[in-house]
Amino acid sequence: RAMSSVTIPPPECMLRPLEVPFRYLFGPGPSNVPPRILAAGGRAIIGHLHPEMYEIMNDIKKGIQYAFQTQNNMTIAMSGSGHAAMECAIFNTVEPGESVLVAVNGIWGERVAEIAERMGANVHIMVKAPGGIFSNEEIEKALAKHKPVLFFLTHGESSAGLAHPVDGIGDLCRKHNTLFLVDTVASLGASPIFMDQQNIDILYTGSQKALNAPPGTAPISFNERACQKMFNRKTKPVSYLFDMAHLSNYWGNDGQPARLFGPVSGFQCLSRQYPSWRHHREVAGYLWKGLEDMGIKLFIQNKDLRLPSVTTIVIPEGYNWREMLQYMMKHHNMEMTGGLGPSTGMVMRVGLMGYNCQKTNADMVLAALADALKNCKKSKA
Ligand code: PMP
Repeated sequence: RAMSSVTIPPPECMLRPLEVPFRYLFGPGPSNVPPRILAAGGRAIIGHLHPEMYEIMNDIKKGIQYAFQTQNNMTIAMSGSGHAAMECAIFNTVEPGESVLVAVNGIWGERVAEIAERMGANVHIMVKAPGGIFSNEEIEKALAKHKPVLFFLTHGESSAGLAHPVDGIGDLCRKHNTLFLVDTVASLGASPIFMDQQNIDILYTGSQKALNAPPGTAPISFNERACQKMFNRKTKPVSYLFDMAHLSNYWGNDGQPARLFGPVSGFQCLSRQYPSWRHHREVAGYLWKGLEDMGIKLFIQNKDLRLPSVTTIVIPEGYNWREMLQYMMKHHNMEMTGGLGPSTGMVMRVGLMGYNCQKTNADMVLAALADALKNCKKSKA
């Protein structure tokens, strides 16, 4: 008997026009996307193997090489959010049983340690409170002790609002025959990074923060040392989709015909991103001064260690942070967020990234915060 009766009716919602409100996305991402980039994603869909698509991918590759300051040929954008790049980096360069060292000073190190653990790596962690800094001496000691094949550090720790120094660590990793992996999802385009000069072996980011593209694509780059390791492994990576043997083929890095699919609209948007360090630094400085003038304390005290894209503020004494955030969403149509992972309950987070990085927006943030401080009741606790 043919299975011919439709028992699940078509949902009526699909016939209604889609309504999406405008909101000020002044949290740690996604950020508002400028019309020029939104328009790039609204263009016609073309085939993922059409010549125009390869041109778009070449544009993306050049854009990433500029933003990362690298000449690496193995530079691509993944299909997926920043987590896809995290998994791609670990899955391809580490084999089960190998030693991995992870610096944990917020949620992103915790997350990478879990990813590495799940694929069977022998994970060692160095732990600090959110926003803590690892000295190069501490790192070298741990490299010597654990002899990891990979060391992970978050450059822009968005849960803490920290821009961790990177200088010198790549050299230590070389000395100890370790690959240096750096997460710049929250910092790329906002805070300077020099992949080649800083001897970073693997670097990744996300599309939806300072790069100002929609969520869903994630740039990643591997240098020659990283390629040597990942293309000479004994076991296949645990993921098919994230296998760099396939991805490098799709990106035309191995000279063979392509087999994979790519997120066409997301790539169209990503091909038109544009980072700006100076602009972020200026607007962040303006925001920080405004916050301090209001009597709000910044979580990262040393200005030079603050992440320009995501500012963390100490929750004002006696206030309920959830209530303040809800108030600003309701009355100012503005998203800011609380902490994340270990920084939950410690901070509130304000992000002014890319297109949102303007002094007029900083003024709006300050006005919304002042209004929330005036109108949210102080708790008795
Ligand atoms: N790393 C850092 C430093 C991040 O800030 C984020 C996102 N907040 C991620 C990784 C994960 O990226 P995604 O949310 O795009 O998966």
